Amino acid sequence: MQNPSKIIPKGHRKIIISTIAVAIILITSGWYIYSRLTSLSANLNMLSNQLATLETRLSSTTASLQNNISQTSNNLNSAINQQLQSSAAIAQQLGTYQQQVDTVSSTVGTLQKLSNTDPQLLQKYSKVFFLNEYYAPAKLAAIPGDYEYSETKQLTLQADVWPHLKALIDAAKSSSVNIYVYSAYRSFNEQSALKSDYKITYGAGTANSFSADQGYSEHQLGTTVDLITGGLGGVLDGFDGTKAYIWLQSNAWRYGFVLSYPKDNKFYVYEPWHWRFVGVKLATDLHNQGKNFYDLDQRTIDAYLVNFFDPQ
Ligand SMILES: [Zn+2]
Repeated sequence: MQNPSKIIPKGHRKIIISTIAVAIILITSGWYIYSRLTSLSANLNMLSNQLATLETRLSSTTASLQNNISQTSNNLNSAINQQLQSSAAIAQQLGTYQQQVDTVSSTVGTLQKLSNTDPQLLQKYSKVFFLNEYYAPAKLAAIPGDYEYSETKQLTLQADVWPHLKALIDAAKSSSVNIYVYSAYRSFNEQSALKSDYKITYGAGTANSFSADQGYSEHQLGTTVDLITGGLGGVLDGFDGTKAYIWLQSNAWRYGFVLSYPKDNKFYVYEPWHWRFVGVKLATDLHNQGKNFYDLDQRTIDAYLVNFFDPQ
């Protein structure tokens, strides 16, 4: 057998070996590159899958968040609406309380006015009801000399009634009618002394018909005055023939004054000069109804006590 190495020439052998070496190198590199590419491709697939998974999760999380936000917003709206409704209910309740407080305050105000107003001031005086000898007005005001007919004696009047009488006299004066106060507050004792004088002068029968017994006189209240005007020589008789009387008949009610003893009354003789303050509201109603103070029953009159000192 011939040695194969001897068949291939020596120069060719080198080339063959080199070629085989190159081929081995190429195959090895190719396999290596192929296996790397395969591995990279697998990695790429895996990454792509992971990305898809992440995208899915992201989209699901986003949807869930949106849902949560929407739910929370709904809850907040609902809570706010509830709060608003309960605030409105509270405001309404407060309004109701305020109304109740106002009503109570007004009632308290009325009661205070009533408790501060002497019920005697609107009492009818007759042979049945009379003032006791100790009764005196709560406070008296001195009538300024300009308003008195005679300044020999200081006249006084219930302090809260005086502004009404002053307004009346001032209004008359601005219509060129002169009115003066002839007599005002008289105490029990003064009335008693006056009656005795009248009895001596006129006799008991005549005196009883025009002068109230002590305790029955409205003058003791401090709300009642005898008014006079010029031209009568200082006497009250004839007062109803004067323009002062005509003016009083038309206007005295506006200032809260009424004539206690008009013509043909059942209590005393006609006293056109004798005017009693009963409050503007009662005087106005009497005027509008064409009634006299003594025509009303005491119950009806008492309802006016709360308005007694109301301003004109
Ligand atoms: Zn009188």
